[in-house]
Amino acid sequence: MRATTAFNKMLAIPGAHVAAVAFTPEGIVVDLTRRSKRLRCPCGWSTRAVYDRSSRSWRGLDLGTAKLSLHAEIRRLDCRRCGRVRTEEVPWARPGARFTRDFEDVVAWLAQRMDKTAITRLLRCSWEAVAHIVERVVADQLDDARLEEVYRIGVDEVSYRKGHRYLTVVADHDRDGAVIWAGEGKSSAVLEQFYDELGDARTAQLQAVSLDMGAAFKKATDARAPHARQCADPFHVVALANEAINAARRWAWNIERDKARAAAAAAGPKPLGRPRADAPPRPRDQARWTKHTRWALVKDPEALSAEQLDVLHELRRSGSVLYRCWQLKEGLRDLYRLQNPADAPAHLDWWLTWACRCRIPAFLTLSKTVRANRDRILAAVELGLSNSKLEGLNSKIRLINHRGYGHHSAAALIAMIYLCCGGLTVQLPTQR
Ligand SMILES: [Zn+2]
Repeated sequence: MRATTAFNKMLAIPGAHVAAVAFTPEGIVVDLTRRSKRLRCPCGWSTRAVYDRSSRSWRGLDLGTAKLSLHAEIRRLDCRRCGRVRTEEVPWARPGARFTRDFEDVVAWLAQRMDKTAITRLLRCSWEAVAHIVERVVADQLDDARLEEVYRIGVDEVSYRKGHRYLTVVADHDRDGAVIWAGEGKSSAVLEQFYDELGDARTAQLQAVSLDMGAAFKKATDARAPHARQCADPFHVVALANEAINAARRWAWNIERDKARAAAAAAGPKPLGRPRADAPPRPRDQARWTKHTRWALVKDPEALSAEQLDVLHELRRSGSVLYRCWQLKEGLRDLYRLQNPADAPAHLDWWLTWACRCRIPAFLTLSKTVRANRDRILAAVELGLSNSKLEGLNSKIRLINHRGYGHHSAAALIAMIYLCCGGLTVQLPTQR
């Protein structure tokens, strides 16, 4: 069998056949000849008229340990539909790519599953190449169908670059929280771009929009989808309660520290040198204790370790204000554990009465926020919009960041979010 025949069978390049094969120190170089004389514009228009010719190489999947490079003539055409000169589309690669479609599909498939450094080592390509490939594959696969039949959406902001930049992410509650849109920034104008893309007819179908408790997304939704029921994401309500606990812990810590300092000053100067062996033990440092109670107070009670439970019992026994904080937080979370959602309004009002009398500054602030969002919080319970999917989305996006995909441009991260959280399936060349 001739080498060109063998390579033809092995590579099975669509729309071309192998004319020559060369083994070079850089790898295997395969020259391709096109079957069709017609030139296709990426827009779909085709012609036989060649504007000009040049040549180009595409990196293919490795053969054994040898790098594979495909080499072919590429032509430009004067597209009547686009109204300008464009480079023709080839069947084995995406427009503008220097990698074959197979190579790019493998990169995208791996990017859904492994970190970026591992891909660059496995496939011997650069970080930038991986980022651009992901953007191209996503642009190729993402279609408008994801915006059809959308009734209940959740909007959230996601931070990247260590919290210095933000994206706005829209997920579909009825499609397992799949991301249907993402944009750069977190202002109301960004969310309005989404409503623009959704269009009036599809926006009219929206029934519910779950949001955080900030003003930006509410403003855009009030203006563009006033008919949709607005809900406050349970995830954000619980997060606010945990923030209140942390603020209360700092507050209590400062009080304890001042108390300890006053006591030390009253006791007079400390004796010099090491304490004697039979000296009574020092009273436990209350201020430090308050500082180390964080996880016991913030974690889900069912997930507490024995040690953390001890911390909680100790706080209860000593009548600490932090124990009351914990009760208030869990009281608010009980709203989402009610057997009968119809009890939610009464439960929330009971909680509000309790919280606004608690005299703990952080919880007074929380009760004001909750009161201002009362109807939106209750709407989430009534409609049963679960927080787990959107919360899961947040941790998935953090994982994408950890795997090394979140440091470049917003466009690159948005492409990764669509790839990993948008329900896209990438077919491997071996599965076709
Ligand atoms: Zn065109």
